Amino acid sequence: MEFRDLKKQYRALRVEINQRLQEVLDDTNFIQGRQVNELEAALADYTGVKHCITCANGTDALQMALMAWDIGEGAAVFVPDFTFFSTGEAVAVVGGTPVFVDVRKDTYNIDTTSLENAIKEVLRDGRLTPKAVIAVDLFGQPAEYPALRKLTEKYGLLLLEDAAQGFGGAINDKKACSFADIAITSFFPAKPLGCYGDGGAIFTDNDEWDELLRSFRVHGKGESKYENIRIGMNSRLDTIQAAVLLAKFRTFVEAELDAVNNFASVYTDALKDLIATPVIKEGFYSSWAQYTIQLKNATERNGLQRYLGERNIPSMIYYPYPMHRQKAFLKYNCGEQELRNSIQLCNTVLSLPMHPYLERAEIEKIVMEIKKYMGQR
Ligand SMILES: *Cc1c(COP(=O)(O)O)cnc(C)c1O
Repeated sequence: MEFRDLKKQYRALRVEINQRLQEVLDDTNFIQGRQVNELEAALADYTGVKHCITCANGTDALQMALMAWDIGEGAAVFVPDFTFFSTGEAVAVVGGTPVFVDVRKDTYNIDTTSLENAIKEVLRDGRLTPKAVIAVDLFGQPAEYPALRKLTEKYGLLLLEDAAQGFGGAINDKKACSFADIAITSFFPAKPLGCYGDGGAIFTDNDEWDELLRSFRVHGKGESKYENIRIGMNSRLDTIQAAVLLAKFRTFVEAELDAVNNFASVYTDALKDLIATPVIKEGFYSSWAQYTIQLKNATERNGLQRYLGERNIPSMIYYPYPMHRQKAFLKYNCGEQELRNSIQLCNTVLSLPMHPYLERAEIEKIVMEIKKYMGQR
């Protein structure tokens, strides 16, 4: 059994993927080929956002978004304490200060009360200027954007949606990647919509930022590639990756999202009386980057992971460390009292196999083994 079965997906989509790849090989248009533009148009149309700017990966996407807002020294950027490292790393790379904020235990997403407390604390302290909030659509479910938007308006902050795991999610009919001033996603192979290497994209309705981002991704280009008017990066999406994504996109929208939502309900129905299962808020739709349960404590969680492993059922701990305890972030010296949920989740979470090509029998086996383990305890 695979944690995320990319081989089965390839077998299902092989004809379309091979054909799209062959076109790129025949054209040898490896950099900024027409498939890149075609993909950007398809993603902008799907998300309902005016501009989609593809790039080399989700981490670069975060960094370039912060560059477009001129975030640097002296800027405080509020980041959930429970997320993948990149969300905070991008802030530090541009010279800003990540301020870690606690998450909710039920949705795993940023807690708006903790966020407001953190903003007030930075204002009171006076050394940094609050500039932006990065909300993460963790494990596939959008963060609480209506409430977040109210807070960012109240304090005059920019809002960045890190939808690296959230592409395909929605709140009512509004799609992920459309909730903030700028949104980003990642096409890392294991993300909900993955390519066959690294890839990412940035979304915005703002024409000025669109132009800046297109310049940043090609060495700060001006009118032409060899006229450089600002310091940028080299962060393009390969044409080959765009072709893979185009080949996968229709099935992602038409079948894979339904499949993972269906598997999530099967898991939840079977496990909800036994352990804490993921909570999807009313009107919210998840793309199920992960299906993550919570055990009572680290002993029970680690025991379950070992037990499943011995029975050839893979599982993962996303994430073992809260951001503020990562060695690389220690210098930002965050207090711990406000970060209780993040600390606790790192000890109790376990992500189970989740992907659109799971089989009913596999889920049944996983559920049965979890029940056996819990029954023994
Ligand atoms: C994967 C991920 C990223 C980074 O994406 P890459 O394409 O791997 O650089 C950023 N934020 C979150 C929440 C992620 O899960």
